[in-house]
Amino acid sequence: MRMSEFFLPTLKEDPSEAQIVSHRFMLRAGMIRQSSAGIYSWLPMGLRVLKKIEGIVRQEQDRAGCQELLMPTIQSADIWRESGRYDDYGKEMLRITDRHDREMLYGPTNEELITEIFRESVRSYKDLPKLLYHIQWKFRDEVRPRFGVMRGREFLMKDSYSFDLDFAGAKQTYNKMFVSYLRTFSRMGLKAIPMAADSGPIGGDMSHEFLILADTGESEVFCHRDILSFDVPGDDVDYRIDQQPVVDKWTSLYAATDEKHNAAREEELGEELVAARGIEVGHIFYFGTKYSKAMNAVVASPDGQEIPVEMGSYGVGVSRLVAGIIEASHDDDGIIWPEPVAPFGAGIINLRAGDALCDTTCEDLYSKLSSAGLDPLYDDRDERAGVKFANMDLIGLPWQVVVGPRGLENGMVEIKSRATGDKQEMTPDAVLNKLMAV
Ligand code: ATP
Ligand code: MG
Repeated sequence: MRMSEFFLPTLKEDPSEAQIVSHRFMLRAGMIRQSSAGIYSWLPMGLRVLKKIEGIVRQEQDRAGCQELLMPTIQSADIWRESGRYDDYGKEMLRITDRHDREMLYGPTNEELITEIFRESVRSYKDLPKLLYHIQWKFRDEVRPRFGVMRGREFLMKDSYSFDLDFAGAKQTYNKMFVSYLRTFSRMGLKAIPMAADSGPIGGDMSHEFLILADTGESEVFCHRDILSFDVPGDDVDYRIDQQPVVDKWTSLYAATDEKHNAAREEELGEELVAARGIEVGHIFYFGTKYSKAMNAVVASPDGQEIPVEMGSYGVGVSRLVAGIIEASHDDDGIIWPEPVAPFGAGIINLRAGDALCDTTCEDLYSKLSSAGLDPLYDDRDERAGVKFANMDLIGLPWQVVVGPRGLENGMVEIKSRATGDKQEMTPDAVLNKLMAV
């Protein structure tokens, strides 16, 4: 992409409505624009990151054997009456009436709809287990939408739903999702810590929220410091094997949000306790037969009896993650994108657009990096160097290649790592080799 052609409406000044750094940088870097309270348009720069995050989430769901489908945003009120949540959900649910006076709603989540799909299609234990997900916009009429896409009213969520014959199967599925979440967040450069969460009326310990640590987090969190250096299972993870040992390890040390925090642990853990703030980026939940009983989602068991299926649901805040990653990775000058989610792989800064040698060197780098799939953003504009540097730092691409007449006298360009600030002079060919190796 050439900057001169790119739709990138950046802002020089800090927008007054932005209270936290991610909201400020997302507006300034031309990623989003508010359309109404808690509802945003995603501009090209923002959408690129959203898609990268979505892609990682999708890969890790697929890897864990979860199958993608797509349910609509608009649902019928009828199924929510069956589960009893139509009245319970209250004002957070956006209710809509169609031209035939049918009651509809914009889905805040999809337990009812997936249960309806399941019960119409699956009859036998032989078809279990099943694990399904979609990545779809949700609407929750939050009382206080704030912090940009961090707490929006319309937001993108990945939600999975599992169906198992019995508790043992449901637990194994839960473990699988637990591990896939560890991997998902780690691949985005995040340290997400699973913390015991409220498991509702069923009780038990099969509900975890995944939180990333950031000063602006809405929740207060407490954890044993050693959790921060735990390893995440690698690409060779085998989900056919029960992941219980991984779950046991990650849940062996203390980690709790303020709602579940036990103050007595503070003294006991002493220096080993980290008290911080966290952002909830995922939530996994086993809820047994809550919906299957209410909505009659039953299968024939091996001995011929009809039994309600065991279910769980598993959410990732895809759009919230865009802001969450910025909260976790930025400096005073702007965003520092971890490579796997960066909107472009590298930026090329032409310090003297119009200079023949600068132009040809940049064009050559641009076309070679493009062919190599590195997706560069080339700042070819006729702008002052200072403006270009500030802009590149703001949008936070992992690498900046700076091409100027002075360096080119010796055949050199400069490459800067956004994360470390390290700069190195090298030939354009060396830059290509270096970037292709990362
Ligand atoms: P919270 O406690 O933050 O309100 P929740 O417990 O209501 O979230 P879940 O129903 O568990 O959320 O939804 C799954 C994930 O969706 C959350 O972990 C979060 O990352 C994301 N999410 C929930 N509400 C919002 C929102 N209003 N804006 C953006 N993302 C959200
Ligand atoms: Mg939650």
